[in-house]
Amino acid sequence: MAQELPCPFEKKFPSELLRDDRYFMTLAYNECINAWRQDEVPVGAVIEYGGEVIARAFNRVNGLKDPTAHAEILAITQAAGAVGDWRLNDCTLYVTKEPCPMCSGATLMSRLQRVVYGIRDPKMGCLGGANNLNDIPTINHHFEITPGLMEAECLELFQAYFKLKRLKETGHEDVGTTADDLSH
Ligand SMILES: [Zn+2]
Repeated sequence: MAQELPCPFEKKFPSELLRDDRYFMTLAYNECINAWRQDEVPVGAVIEYGGEVIARAFNRVNGLKDPTAHAEILAITQAAGAVGDWRLNDCTLYVTKEPCPMCSGATLMSRLQRVVYGIRDPKMGCLGGANNLNDIPTINHHFEITPGLMEAECLELFQAYFKLKRLKETGHEDVGTTADDLSH
């Protein structure tokens, strides 16, 4: 494995007693830190079923050299394995950034009950940002979407990663996140 990239953000440890949306999103946030340490674009995901985490993953596109290795896809595959069924009817996906077209499609095809995401992505997001797959009138599976949970925390970490990368590449800090940064 490549040398670990230090991450200035620390993992959060939410109380196990209150398993609300924020609890699960915090665990997804922690996956972003795992991604950062492996020099991956920091997006994290967890899947909840019956109050338990049955899958957790972070973006691994670089490490696996696989353009489909987004956090959501890896988590959905894990969750289907854990449940023993490709239908994730009673599961909720928590992801730190709005799913891209590929991952939005996967949330639909896996029949998730609900998707909760952090950073809204008006450029590439397909669950309310640029588009909303859930609005296709002719599909027979619709799910609940909760956008913007812990958006500020997730965005701060996400932007900091790109700022660091830019600094390493160019030797100077650039202006904040560009629209291109979001399309991961
Ligand atoms: Zn994706």
